[in-house]
Amino acid sequence: MEPHRKQAPAPPKGRFAPTPSGRMHLGNLFAALLAWASVRSRGGSMILRIEDLDTERCSDAWADLIREDLSWLGLDWDRETPPQRERGDAYAAALARLEAQGLVYPCWCTRGLLHAASAPHAEDGHSVYPGFCRDLTEEQRAEKYAAAAPSFRLLVPDEDIRFTDGVQGPCGENLARDCGDFVVRKADGSWTYQLAVVVDDIASGVTEVVRGRDLLSSVPRQLYLYRLLGAAPPVYFHVPLLLGPGGRRLSKRERDLDLGVLRQRFSPQQLLGRLAWLAGQQERPAPLTASELAAGFDWRRVPRQDLEIDPENW
Ligand code: GLU
Repeated sequence: MEPHRKQAPAPPKGRFAPTPSGRMHLGNLFAALLAWASVRSRGGSMILRIEDLDTERCSDAWADLIREDLSWLGLDWDRETPPQRERGDAYAAALARLEAQGLVYPCWCTRGLLHAASAPHAEDGHSVYPGFCRDLTEEQRAEKYAAAAPSFRLLVPDEDIRFTDGVQGPCGENLARDCGDFVVRKADGSWTYQLAVVVDDIASGVTEVVRGRDLLSSVPRQLYLYRLLGAAPPVYFHVPLLLGPGGRRLSKRERDLDLGVLRQRFSPQQLLGRLAWLAGQQERPAPLTASELAAGFDWRRVPRQDLEIDPENW
C-alpha cells in the first residue's frame, strides 16, 4: 500500500487586473506588488488581464505602458488572458445561466430617478436599489421595452454573506439590506465589473485575489455570483490604499506619483524597497529586488489601515 502522504497545497494562481485608463500610480503598483509577491512566495503562477470594460476611458497605449512598467520592476506573469472587450460571449453565457435560475429582471430606472428616490446608504454613500422594477407585470415590461432598452439586475437574497479577508479579517454584508439587486448588464449592452470579473477569474482558474481595499465591498456580490455560477471562490486580500495629504485618494487623472514620475526618481530596486517598507516587509526603505521581496514575503506584516503619504516628498 502507498504510504500515507500529506498533500502539499496546490500552488496559488493570482492575477494582475489593471484598468488601462491611465498610467499606474503608486497605489496601483502597491497592490500589484503584493499580488505578485504573495503568489511567487509560494511557487504560484500569475495572470495578466487587461480590464477594459470601459472602452471610452481605456486604450491599448495605456495597456502597453502597464506591461512595460510591470516588466521594468521585474514583476512578471506567466500568461495574459484575453482583454474584457473580447469576452462578451462568455459574459452572455453567464447571464443566461443566471436567467435560467429566474434571478434576472429588466430595469428601466435611471440614475437620476434612483438618486432622487433614495437616502444614501449610511456607511459609504452608495444607495440600496429600492426594487422599483422588480415586480413589473408583463404588460408593463412590454410597454417599457417599446420606449427604451433596459439594464438587467440580479435578485439578491436576504442573507448575510460572510468571509474572512486575508488582510482585513472577518467581513460580510446582507445583500438585500446593504446592497439591493445589482446591475449585471447595462442598458447600453455593456457588462458590469461585478459580473465580468467573476466570469474572468473563474475562466482562468484564479485562486487568490489581491487588490485595493476600495473593492472590499464588492466581495459579497462576487461570492454570490460564484455560488450561482457553480464555482469555488478565491481567497481575498484587500490591501491598504495609499492616500495623499488629508486622506484624499491618489488619482490617475491627477497623475499623482505615476510610474512616469517614479521611474525618473528611482531605480526599480529603490522603488520596490520603499514599497516593501510601506508593506511592513522590511524595517527600512532599503533597495531590494522583486525576488528578494518574494523570498521573505509574509502577509501577517502587511498593515490593515490606509497609508498616508506626501506625493511632493515621497
Ligand atoms: N480593474 C480593477 C482596477 O484596476 C481591479 C479589479 C479587481 O482586481 O477585481 O482597479
